[in-house]
Amino acid sequence: MTKKKNRFTVGWLYPDLMNIYGDRGNILTLLKRAEWRGLDARAIDLGRGAAHGMEDVDVFFFGGGQDREQALVYDDLIEIKQEPLEAAVANGSVVLAVCGGYQLLGHYYQTAEGERFPGIGLIDVRTEAGKKRFIGDVVVDTTLEDLKPTTLVGFENHSGRTFLGAGARALGRVRVGSGNNGGDGTEGCVQGGVVGTYLHGSLLPKNPHLADYLIRRALSRRGMAELAPLDDSIELAAHAKILERAQPRAGER
Ligand code: GLN
Repeated sequence: MTKKKNRFTVGWLYPDLMNIYGDRGNILTLLKRAEWRGLDARAIDLGRGAAHGMEDVDVFFFGGGQDREQALVYDDLIEIKQEPLEAAVANGSVVLAVCGGYQLLGHYYQTAEGERFPGIGLIDVRTEAGKKRFIGDVVVDTTLEDLKPTTLVGFENHSGRTFLGAGARALGRVRVGSGNNGGDGTEGCVQGGVVGTYLHGSLLPKNPHLADYLIRRALSRRGMAELAPLDDSIELAAHAKILERAQPRAGER
């Protein structure tokens, strides 16, 4: 494969500020799983300020952050990153956005104090924070493509309640936990190449099937949609452990 074709690039949005509850584990998982397939995997930091190379990014990662960190990145997201991010996504790049990052990609994020941050509208969602925080393990039955297993596991810690518009479909249905808003049973969203979710954990080490979905989708724009299978026995054992912990057998409360 030519050098460029063999390259796999992860663009990490605001690694210094939007990176809580172990979210950096998602970066490590994407890089390792690409490397194990013989790709030349690298991550580029896309912090505040001028960003170069966004057009070469295969998968963007936008992690979680509290309201304070969201406010600190907000202007840069709107004024500097929005345009190249939209162009990259239109050109087939993929985005994984978790919690605070997920919220800012929508139409707006409104804090519990009523402060509203207009989002970049990359996904058809809106978020309004309430007084109640949703904290705990989450188990999701996903309808995404033909993922096996069909569950996703993680944990959530957010006050934002996200509601999907017609342009976005849910990443799945909540079996355990609150998900998008603790009311409509949905978790996360999928819209084109963008996957938003409330699942921290970090998410991808215990959900290797989702990691491969993101890698495969990003590489498909370069005609490289097949990924060699990996031995995911350890990752899936961790997945099963969370499933077991989150939904004790009936009668075991
Ligand atoms: N500040 C946002 C909220 O509380 C996002 C938190 C997070 O990223 N975990 O909903």
